[in-house]
Amino acid sequence: MRRDATHFTVFHLILHYCLRFRWHNHCPEKVKVILDKEVSKMSPTGKKLEENASGKYYVTDACDGCGICFSYAIQNFMYSSDSSYYFVFQQPVDPREEVDIQRAMELCPMSCIKDDGETSVN
Ligand code: SF4
Repeated sequence: MRRDATHFTVFHLILHYCLRFRWHNHCPEKVKVILDKEVSKMSPTGKKLEENASGKYYVTDACDGCGICFSYAIQNFMYSSDSSYYFVFQQPVDPREEVDIQRAMELCPMSCIKDDGETSVN
């Protein structure tokens, strides 16, 4: 199960208002509470998506397309053609991007942004 259509609509409505009214520093934790029940129903497989840029970070097929990663690291994530999931479009190229992508990892409600342990920033 990739995601539920109702879940997607409600989540994106909340995310839209969070970004519009500049609540984005606080919103993801609130959104995580809303999604906790949904997450517990899902059983992510953790399979690495083929679209990921090669390197340290990647997204698995447990992604539900919420877009939180994109809002925190727009330079590193991209959405699929049908917007149903996101993937790592570009590995971090500097320490600032590394911080952004790690923040996205912390806030990902599906815990599907992974780090293979290699060093990506020199
Ligand atoms: S990788 Fe995580 S934060 Fe990004 S869209 Fe997927 S579930 Fe949301």
